Amino acid sequence: MPDAWSKADLHIHSRHSDGLASIPDIMEYVSTRTDLKVIAITDHNTIEGALFAKSLEDMYPGVEVVVGEEITSKWGHILGLYLTEDVPPGLSAAETIARIEAQGGIAIIAHPFANRAFGPFGLKSLGNRVAEVAFHAMEVYNSSPYLVYANRLAAKTFAGGQGWAATGGSDAHVLKAIGKGYTMFRGDTAADLRRSLDELETRACACRGGMSIAFRYMIRYPAIRRQQALNPERCRPRC
Ligand SMILES: [Zn+2]
Ligand SMILES: [Zn+2]
Repeated sequence: MPDAWSKADLHIHSRHSDGLASIPDIMEYVSTRTDLKVIAITDHNTIEGALFAKSLEDMYPGVEVVVGEEITSKWGHILGLYLTEDVPPGLSAAETIARIEAQGGIAIIAHPFANRAFGPFGLKSLGNRVAEVAFHAMEVYNSSPYLVYANRLAAKTFAGGQGWAATGGSDAHVLKAIGKGYTMFRGDTAADLRRSLDELETRACACRGGMSIAFRYMIRYPAIRRQQALNPERCRPRC
């Protein structure tokens, strides 16, 4: 059992959905500008970019890629990690999670208390509905600048552990947001991360600098909207 703890950003978007950065730019940024050991590329409704990133891993020693997808389920966004094929959008949460687990993946409820604009579960429904599905982890910290209140609520609700692993991610759509939210895990490889998630010992963490991230998003938002228009099927906020 490794003693050292490392950082993983488990929620990153690329140009393959509505992120502004290309996969090679993301790999370059992570390896030269961050201390992340593992990243998950989680584009909306496709693993295309994540597979591309995985194929570049050898060029960036010290950074491991987990193939992920942010799937638009009927109830909201669900992150699937350790995937080998696309999970389609538009299914119930239970069916989405079943598809993730059928291919050996891990299902994480993304930004559980975000408002409807993000297409997720919503304040009122979450408490009732979470009991109906068995997922593996909950994203209790998401550094998207709009989610300050939602993060606080998630942290409060899930403090103390309820049989789920806690994760943090940046939900980065621009390079400089990468790593601003992250997950601490024991070890330093994608396999270690998986074990840490299985043992429910991960921790969700945040970097300081929320205001500057928010400002960066604000000025890049028109570009993110244009990128969404390029991938309309993948980026529809809800189904
Ligand atoms: Zn989302
Ligand atoms: Zn996202």
